[in-house]
Amino acid sequence: MSYAKVLCVGLVGVTGHLVEVEADLAAGLPAVVISGLPDTALHEARDRVRAAVVNSGQRWPNRRITLNLLPAALPKFGSAFDLAIAAALLGGSGELPLLPLEGVVVLGELGLDGTVRPVRGVLPMVAAAAQAGVERVIVPIGNAAEAAVIPGVRVRAVDHLHRLVAFVRDGTPLIEPPAATPTPVVGGPDLAEVAGQQVGRRALEVAAAGGHHIALLGPPGAGKTMLAERLPSLLPELDDEAALEVTALHSVAGLLPPGGRLLRRPPFQAPHHTATVPSLVGGGSGLARPGAVSLAHRGVLFLDEAPEFSKGALEALRQPLEHGRIQLSRTGGGTVYPARTQLVLAANPCPCAKPAGDSHCECSALVRRRYLGRLSGPLLDRIDVQVRLMPVRAAELMAPDGDVEPSATVAARVAAARQAAATRWAGLGRRLNAEVDGPHLRRPPWRLPARVTAELRGRLDSGSLSARGFDRVIRMAWTITDLDGRDRPDRDDVREAIQLRTGEAM
Ligand SMILES: [Zn+2]
Repeated sequence: MSYAKVLCVGLVGVTGHLVEVEADLAAGLPAVVISGLPDTALHEARDRVRAAVVNSGQRWPNRRITLNLLPAALPKFGSAFDLAIAAALLGGSGELPLLPLEGVVVLGELGLDGTVRPVRGVLPMVAAAAQAGVERVIVPIGNAAEAAVIPGVRVRAVDHLHRLVAFVRDGTPLIEPPAATPTPVVGGPDLAEVAGQQVGRRALEVAAAGGHHIALLGPPGAGKTMLAERLPSLLPELDDEAALEVTALHSVAGLLPPGGRLLRRPPFQAPHHTATVPSLVGGGSGLARPGAVSLAHRGVLFLDEAPEFSKGALEALRQPLEHGRIQLSRTGGGTVYPARTQLVLAANPCPCAKPAGDSHCECSALVRRRYLGRLSGPLLDRIDVQVRLMPVRAAELMAPDGDVEPSATVAARVAAARQAAATRWAGLGRRLNAEVDGPHLRRPPWRLPARVTAELRGRLDSGSLSARGFDRVIRMAWTITDLDGRDRPDRDDVREAIQLRTGEAM
């Protein structure tokens, strides 16, 4: 026999596609030709596979070898095809009877010595295989735990090419994946640790309940970072679909924690202000790495000292914030990663970052305005909640523990409010107040009566609030109402929403 094929999976973004690796061996000058839109890593695969085959004690066929990866039109990135290529080649040369690999997806990168190395993105690859009706997959031992997360697929692992050869030739059993470890009890940051800051705590609760982006403005020591880090603790667990998306993105990034579990907590990403554009939005050669904005998908993206980020970095975040996904342009087709995240910005009032009232701060009003102005165009425009924080007073710090609500209490209110919003907007296909389009808020049946919006319309007329700002206040008013368990926003809800919008809540 001089022809064989083995199944594999190629990733485009986080979507896997079944790939057939065909090997044809013909008489002629010894050579290896790979076709089917391979990227550079695939060309390197030729050399890796050859060394791995020889160093595993197998005979390298000295014939003209044609390798074809189908479908040809699918762009193929990365090194996960190595093991399937080696198997197809040995099958085609007659070295191995490939019947045991019929209908089996084979994934893995080969080291020169024949070691099977883990690859990025195994979880979405196995998910795609399962969806295509594949019942058995073989993965690198280093990816066995994450592959086993996908239900309905029998996962077996290999550590070396000769183990796969022994399995195919003699039926020697492959390695079983480790049992999933139970979800550890996470002792993440808790709101109970934040003393004082009633304004900040309330703003955070409203942001969590409505899915609103939030900006925390205030001097160093006001607790901006403490508050931001606790937003995930107020958000509900991810449902199955969201958990799979988030876990798949971390798998593609090669950042899955060990243990073989779906990630159920909303992720928290806090890139440093020196972060490059690719590290924020994704990129790199081969299989593109998701950036912070995608790793924060269904969770929180925290930009501390936001005005210090480069203009290009802030600008690059505009597209994902607007569309909930990021398109990376690449040769051989664009890659799209989900990026629906809740943004938290923190900023000092001025570039010198001296505490409020500190006599050493000599920043002029103009300098201060310019500093925050760096955020205005691309980002601040999308932020619903803008809160100004003051340094915590000593009296608040000394407050007895019993006075401070823990995250779990607030999270329960947030969950109830989210449920109310999801029920109300179900007909619009929306779940969070922050997602509802302005026109829907301004038209019946959701338009608020004139007496409720009187103050708001006054601010619109006087120019102290933009039309966009008007909609943002209405959205937050709905969230405040939901948190209170009522049906319709009243005048007090709108007033509080105005304060949360303008940073006047003092
Ligand atoms: Zn200053």
